[in-house]
Amino acid sequence: MDKGTMSSPAAQSGFICRQCGACCRIKDGIVRVSDAEVARIAAFLGMAEQDFIDHETEIAPDRRGLILRSRPDGACVWLAEDNLCRIHPVKPEKCRTFPYEWTNADSSEICPGLQRVENVSGPP
Ligand code: SF4
Repeated sequence: MDKGTMSSPAAQSGFICRQCGACCRIKDGIVRVSDAEVARIAAFLGMAEQDFIDHETEIAPDRRGLILRSRPDGACVWLAEDNLCRIHPVKPEKCRTFPYEWTNADSSEICPGLQRVENVSGPP
């Protein structure tokens, strides 16, 4: 994932993405996609929107919209072996704004970039 807004504590503390893909492998993590994001990703892939919905998304656990599919190990299906996102130019907002606008409770255990921020920042 990459830089979003620069107003969060992570941004202000000098967070640097290590491009390790750990945030795309969060077990039980979900990535919601809006209608506009579905359209954008489908166009990027050269797919019809309905085909993208049928083959590349699932109903969210709370049944409120669509999420990207995950592999059995929890990794996003769009994460490549080199840890890069295969839909990077059009990836959903949730991906673009991590960790600037959202984090999980255990994000700092998962993300080496956030661990660095904590180590640099030191105790409050
Ligand atoms: S869409 Fe890309 S950035 Fe988002 S979780 Fe999947 S691989 Fe990671």
